[in-house]
Amino acid sequence: MTLVKKEVEGLLKRLGASACGNLAVHTPIDGSQIGSVSIASPADIESSIAASHDVFLEWRTVPAPRRGELVRLFGNALRDHKDSLARLVTIDCGKPLSEGLGEVQEMIDICDFAVGLSRQLHGLTIASERPGHRMMEQWHPLGPTLVISAFNFPVAVWAWNAALALVCGNSVIWKPSEKTPLTALAVQAIFEQAVRAFGDAPEHLSQVVQGGRDVGATLVADPRIALISATGSTAMGRTVGQVAAGRFARSILELGGNNAAIISDKADVALALRGVLFSAFGTTGQRCTSLRRLFVHDSLYDSFVPALKAAAASMPIGDPLDSAHLAGPLIDEAALTAMQAALEEAKALGGILSGGERLPGNGVYVRPAVVEMAAQVGPVLRETFAPILYVMRYTDLDAAIALQNAVGAGLSSSIFSTDVRECERFLSASGSDCGIANVNIGTSGAEIGGAFGGEKETGGGRESGSDAWKAYMRRATNTINYSNELPLAQGVTFDLG
Ligand code: NAD
Repeated sequence: MTLVKKEVEGLLKRLGASACGNLAVHTPIDGSQIGSVSIASPADIESSIAASHDVFLEWRTVPAPRRGELVRLFGNALRDHKDSLARLVTIDCGKPLSEGLGEVQEMIDICDFAVGLSRQLHGLTIASERPGHRMMEQWHPLGPTLVISAFNFPVAVWAWNAALALVCGNSVIWKPSEKTPLTALAVQAIFEQAVRAFGDAPEHLSQVVQGGRDVGATLVADPRIALISATGSTAMGRTVGQVAAGRFARSILELGGNNAAIISDKADVALALRGVLFSAFGTTGQRCTSLRRLFVHDSLYDSFVPALKAAAASMPIGDPLDSAHLAGPLIDEAALTAMQAALEEAKALGGILSGGERLPGNGVYVRPAVVEMAAQVGPVLRETFAPILYVMRYTDLDAAIALQNAVGAGLSSSIFSTDVRECERFLSASGSDCGIANVNIGTSGAEIGGAFGGEKETGGGRESGSDAWKAYMRRATNTINYSNELPLAQGVTFDLG
């Protein structure tokens, strides 16, 4: 038995979960098997959906602040288990332990946010044009919420959705990535601790259904699922979005990104270099918000790009449980194949490559790749989920912004500049077309307080902070007549004589 497997068994035991079943789970740290989970059968899926539907009918009548109490207890249970869960996140998906801890902190933060929200799910009072009438809107629970998550944020994305869905009065079904199913088992065990502490929460409020895309597709197609929040590739979203639209289900799609940054000639260069390195190569380039395209002003290019290549080449890469390493492995061999194919294609188009080679040892560890491109062509136009940064020169800011926007995805973007006019142009209606536009920070590392999501082929969904909660509820507009008359709106008459 490997050391990692032993540790996983210990961690799961401490969290009150156990892993056995017919889907083998491997850690990207060294490729070894660390457990297995049970893939849901069609009968399992049916009973989960039926239970989710039944429990929703009960949960929607519980007052929202009381629902918030469950989420408060869950946040506290996460605090108690933060270190264990973070280690499991690192072992399951290979991100450095500090990022594993950050991911669990994000779960705790969204729980706090949702608890506050549980007393603020309010609508408007609207002035009626009719005498003796009052108009208002109310927000009501929507229904069973399906959360499909990707491997690279195996727990935080579920928490963004589940914390909000639960305070909004919905039940939750979670279909985690088949590449990182163990963390879902652990989170479910922690959630059940909160349920027990709550006392009278109905059973099956939040359930985990394990399996691959077939299991996900069965859940998406079921008319009892009112809201589908799906995080993953644009290819996945294209299928899920169409099925959801076909049955008029509501969907929140959080899909791929092809994020860019602009380094102006007025940038704070040292700060820009650090921002670029973390965004492009942190998490081994496996964030939806990872920086993939860099436009560097012509006057800086010949000093900035060599410094970037040198910093990338010296980045410590290895076992993500060792705090000396700033990046861990790719998730699997298929990710390496996709990375190598993109680099070959870029080279064939005249790209000058530095780095990108596989490092020796078990697990798929790679050196970050910097590719200088003369134009935005071929693989530069699409997301490759690996640490590749394509670098291009620019002279005119408007042209750089236009190039930044000239890709299918619209998730995250940033400008490094100390010139307020340039920054405001970038943030304006004719600037970045992305859901996230930053100034003097990189494209990755969002906080939970803002609404998270992107435009175009990123899917248009928003989750987490701001008013993203509205997607988890249905709005009812109510008009109340407290007069003895029946005036019609817009002065329409309908007199019986
Ligand atoms: P993926 O698309 O392969 O899988 C994501 C999830 O979707 C998995 O749970 C998978 O089983 C499920 N799935 C796939 N096809 C499905 C179908 N037809 N019906 C139902 N479910 C289906 O993505 P991945 O490799 O796990 O993650 C990487 C991708 O996710 C990248 O493109 C990344 O940009 C994106 N991502 C986006 C965000 C965001 O918030 N925008 C966040 C994280 C990851």
